[in-house]
Amino acid sequence: MRAVTVTPGVPNSLRLVEGYPEPSIDEGAVLVEAIAVGICGTDREIIDGHYGEAPPGSAELVIGHESLGRVLEDPTGSLRPGDLVAGVVRHPDPVPCPNCAVGEWDMCRNDQYTEHGIKGLPGFARERWRVDPEFAVLLEPALADVGTLLEPTSVVAKAWEHIERIGVRSVWQPETVLVTGAGPIGLLAALLGCQRGLTVHVLDLATTGPKPELVRALGAHYHSEGMAALGFAPDVVLECTGAPSVVLDVMCQAAPNGIVCLTGVSTGGRLIDFDAGALNRELVLENNVVFGSVNANRRHWDLAATALARADQRWLASLISRRVPLGAYAEAYSPQPDEIKTVLDFA
Ligand SMILES: [Zn+2]
Repeated sequence: MRAVTVTPGVPNSLRLVEGYPEPSIDEGAVLVEAIAVGICGTDREIIDGHYGEAPPGSAELVIGHESLGRVLEDPTGSLRPGDLVAGVVRHPDPVPCPNCAVGEWDMCRNDQYTEHGIKGLPGFARERWRVDPEFAVLLEPALADVGTLLEPTSVVAKAWEHIERIGVRSVWQPETVLVTGAGPIGLLAALLGCQRGLTVHVLDLATTGPKPELVRALGAHYHSEGMAALGFAPDVVLECTGAPSVVLDVMCQAAPNGIVCLTGVSTGGRLIDFDAGALNRELVLENNVVFGSVNANRRHWDLAATALARADQRWLASLISRRVPLGAYAEAYSPQPDEIKTVLDFA
């Protein structure tokens, strides 16, 4: 079968392998035929050689962690042939740590977790893959065109769950949400905010391209004039850019008792002249919380599947800018202007 692989640590080693071995039964009981994989910044970092780890005993890593496929067989009987599924990215560490021991592998304490297509487990950019039923998330048939969005949605489902868990430390009646960055994570974070009945504002630099209309189509407000022009203090902030100056600005912008969730990963190395004492004063005197959030566990994947099923399917489809056939894989991995999400098509 065909698979898209890299040699981790070797820049631009991306290639399409013909005759890649069929997935071994050790990988899981459920055999899945790939429909598509979504592509994100992590894939591009792996291709650039900055990130990624091959499975033990191998030099090659199959790439791809935003999966969608159709079940071919499941001898355990949990899933039926033809079911639409996505594979959970992260698997618990083998020790396991206290969090992984109870299925909260997104909160792994010892860094020994593995991740499909990223860290020590083959990814989903291959024609067939296997997972155990615990790691296969069932999607409604209507999501056949947009199911690759489940992985990024699981990430924001976790972020929202943790915001709400922090919120109930006191009386919690949030009204306004600020999302910074209108990429796939920001737009899906805004979707989940709108589904909660909150007033959602999205801030991004873009003034042209699809982002302003995608935000308005959700019933949310689009801003491109910068933080100073916002004119309100949000109860909840989801920071989805990782841009250091934006991260600092949102921490100062939140309302009293406000919660700031950071989801963007910064590269580091850039220094900013900054008044740390003033920030501390602001956070203390306003009871603000700033926290980081990454990855998702099974509960969040199921919440994400429910959120996608409730969403406007045409809006979800409009997040997918390009569908590139497997044969043209190299094209799929080169970023294009104004793209939101590119999908590599196995169908
Ligand atoms: Zn762990």
